[in-house]
Amino acid sequence: KSFLDGIPDAPPDPILSLRTLYEEDPAEKKLNVSVGAYRTDEGKSYVLPVVKEVETMMLDDPSLNHEYLPVEGLKEFRDATAKLAFGEDSLAIREGRCVTVQALSGTGALRVGLEFLSRFYAQGAKVYIPEQSWPLHRRIPPLSGMGEVGLYRYFNADTKGVDFTGLMEDISHAPNGSIIVLHPCAHNPTGADLSFDEWKRLCTVIAEKGHLPFFDAAYQGFATGDLIRDRFALEYFASQGIELMLSQSYAKNMGLYGERTGALSVIVSDKSIVDRVLTQLKQVIRPMYSSPPAHGARIAATILNNPVLFDKWNGELKLMSGRILEMRTALKLALQKLQTPGSWDFLEKQIGMFSYTGLTGPEVDFIQEKYHIYMMRNGRISMAGLTTSTVDYLAGAMHDAVL
Ligand code: PMP
Repeated sequence: KSFLDGIPDAPPDPILSLRTLYEEDPAEKKLNVSVGAYRTDEGKSYVLPVVKEVETMMLDDPSLNHEYLPVEGLKEFRDATAKLAFGEDSLAIREGRCVTVQALSGTGALRVGLEFLSRFYAQGAKVYIPEQSWPLHRRIPPLSGMGEVGLYRYFNADTKGVDFTGLMEDISHAPNGSIIVLHPCAHNPTGADLSFDEWKRLCTVIAEKGHLPFFDAAYQGFATGDLIRDRFALEYFASQGIELMLSQSYAKNMGLYGERTGALSVIVSDKSIVDRVLTQLKQVIRPMYSSPPAHGARIAATILNNPVLFDKWNGELKLMSGRILEMRTALKLALQKLQTPGSWDFLEKQIGMFSYTGLTGPEVDFIQEKYHIYMMRNGRISMAGLTTSTVDYLAGAMHDAVL
């Protein structure tokens, strides 16, 4: 007899359980295109050479130890990460209106940010997320005391691009002062992003409505390979004098997945509030996990603050994002060659690690059963999970499924 005798099974995590199914599949020919991590063209996980270089330097650095970091994290990292997001010359930073704390990667930053909002944001305000979004966007707000999320339209299944009209309608009908979660680039799972012009129009509506944008930047530099291009929305909103929140992750763009390296920033309109915001963010963090891990933050800070290493990192971002773009083209061409019904141009228009293929649940099941190819049941595939030698196999399976 155990006090936990009656404990029910928790619902499985759809992404993590796909990985188990894939690993346990005895088939010789199988493929996992559900992973949310970069893989090389050999299908291997990847440590960025610049990260290796910094880690090698760290091994011999006598100034490093395993003492605790401050509750708010590593100073050099906090300063540099805000500048990466909003720009070196960001007015908000120069005016001292930006508060940044280190966080347990993107997930942890969202959690701390939303708990902070549940304490200090207008009671009853709702968090809105895109109708298609990273599954944790739905789960974190209620657990952080912000209640169930609302949805705004995001994806147009016909064009396989952003449903910008629907999005604007929903954002302008949300009650004033709502919290709007936005993916600044490389939208997960659809791969559909707003154009620069659309970001500007959205910014105007958000300002008029007094909404609070909460940007979730998990892929800066990973979409186009250009850190500055990928931060357009962040830089633009901040330049308009809007108050906002930002979670940042270095999981993808530095390949620091397991090091839990990230940050939460809050831009406020008045410098005099900043010190109080910081003390309250620390109040959220301290009883949650006390202080953040040091290793990844040291790596990121070293790269961000050293121009030579920063250039190398840029080169590696171009390499990773370039390989993903090549896979998009390769898959499109393979499907066109097979004359698979439908237009596949969208594969190249979508951006970032993921693509919404338009495959239906039954088609996904069919592909899994017959071809041992694992993808999310909503038809999302990870381009990073594809390689030159597996593109044709996937295209053949998709062809078979939609015929
Ligand atoms: N936001 C989005 C949109 C993501 O896709 C991810 C990673 N899959 C994250 C946040 C957070 O990831 P992590 O906690 O590993 O930084």
